[in-house]
Amino acid sequence: MRGPEPTIYEISSPGRRGYTLPELDVPESDIPEEFLRDRLLLPEVAEVDLVRHFVRLSQKNFGVDLGFYPLGSCTMKYNPKVNEVAARLPGFTKIHPLQDPATVQGAMQLMYELQTYLAEITGFAATTLQPAAGAHGELTGVLMMRKLIHEGRGEPHRTKVLVPDSAHGTNPATTTMSGLQVVEIPSDKRGNVDLNELKKHLDDTVLGFMLTNPNTLGLFDEHLLELTHLVHEAGGLMYGDGANLNALLGITKPADLGFDVMHINLHKTFSTPHGGGGPGSGPVVCTEELAPYLPGPIVDVEEHDDHVHYIWKMPEHSIGRVKAFWGNFGVMVKAYTYIRMLGAQGLREVAENAVLNANYLQALVKKTYPVPYGFRTCMHEFVAQGKIEGAEDVRALDIAKRLIDYGFHPPTMYFPLIVPEALMIEPTETESKQTLDAFAEALERIAEEARTQPELLKTAPHEAPVRRLDEVRAARYPKLKDVPGME
Ligand SMILES: *Cc1c(COP(=O)(O)O)cnc(C)c1O
Repeated sequence: MRGPEPTIYEISSPGRRGYTLPELDVPESDIPEEFLRDRLLLPEVAEVDLVRHFVRLSQKNFGVDLGFYPLGSCTMKYNPKVNEVAARLPGFTKIHPLQDPATVQGAMQLMYELQTYLAEITGFAATTLQPAAGAHGELTGVLMMRKLIHEGRGEPHRTKVLVPDSAHGTNPATTTMSGLQVVEIPSDKRGNVDLNELKKHLDDTVLGFMLTNPNTLGLFDEHLLELTHLVHEAGGLMYGDGANLNALLGITKPADLGFDVMHINLHKTFSTPHGGGGPGSGPVVCTEELAPYLPGPIVDVEEHDDHVHYIWKMPEHSIGRVKAFWGNFGVMVKAYTYIRMLGAQGLREVAENAVLNANYLQALVKKTYPVPYGFRTCMHEFVAQGKIEGAEDVRALDIAKRLIDYGFHPPTMYFPLIVPEALMIEPTETESKQTLDAFAEALERIAEEARTQPELLKTAPHEAPVRRLDEVRAARYPKLKDVPGME
């Protein structure tokens, strides 16, 4: 390890330049007085030092192209490079969202076909590609539900949204942001929504139910059909959190299970890496009844005698726009390419292998760590606990940090909240048996270390470019106020 990388201000040296300006071809004139500053705090660095600085920084990063990344609920699968090649085609990158639709028919065709594929994969009638992320899609979907129930069906007294305690945290957040009230429904012993608890809340104040399925325990709700039936009978709508479709692709369609509206994370299931600050894409799919409420404009097609023409269309009762322009187009190109490369059979194999990999790893991890719902078959992920017999001081956090020394990205930690010391592990379908074996072996060795030399875990990571940021305040890092320009 090369040690910490200095900041760009620390490698700055007065007079160095990383650029040359072209010769002046306009009359020289002074910068107006009011724009002049006597001290401009910019680093002065030569091109070669600048390039090396950023390349060194990039090599300190961890990513799916470097190693196993079992971050539960995030689906950090390997992303085929052909997706990137397609997204970088100049015909896609050099167009402008304000161009006349007649000049961007190819891009609109791609969006139209992607809308159709997503609807087909999930069994729904219509799609919007506008939302920029999963949580944004949730907000969109819940606002659509609210408008249909309050205005379309004339039932403004329905203001409650039921959310199980195994839901993703964005679900209650979305409900609150939509001006509705969250009612939490507990899970039963098998990790399903507790139907008896649910029945207590099903009255005419219920607007809907938000269900993450498979839930954040990685489990498919065993009473799903009964649950969706009960909610519909009570006059509510079913929202499906489809951020992680990895276990369902080509096997079942959420619309057939009784969902009315759902978002999909293209930046998880459809192979754009999740995290890293985006951009993402959270399309929303819905039933015929909700389709007029979709945000718009969405792409539609006009059939002419000898050709088709793609147009922008505003749904009749649209909740309005939820994003500037048309959504994050580059992410759509990648998802489109991914779907076309795999085809229907390939998408089904994604789901089969994602579930197989998760169950294989669950069986291995179970030997060393508690897996509270390990008596069930999991879907694309499972939740273990960072608890080691004979090493009671060691916590999930320490195990996660130590995994970094073994070259693995830690799993999601302390989530879901209903499992103490949670380690939420999602291997995805793109990993080999060898990788899964190596990860399970690292976890076994860490459990052994926890018993014999717990300090090793408490102070981990040791091999990473950066140590624990919150626990070890390494003096070698300059405080922000000591960095020139930051005072
Ligand atoms: C990731 C995720 C979300 C939120 O998606 P973002 O794109 O991060 O906003 C919602 N629900 C579930 C189940 C998720 O895994």
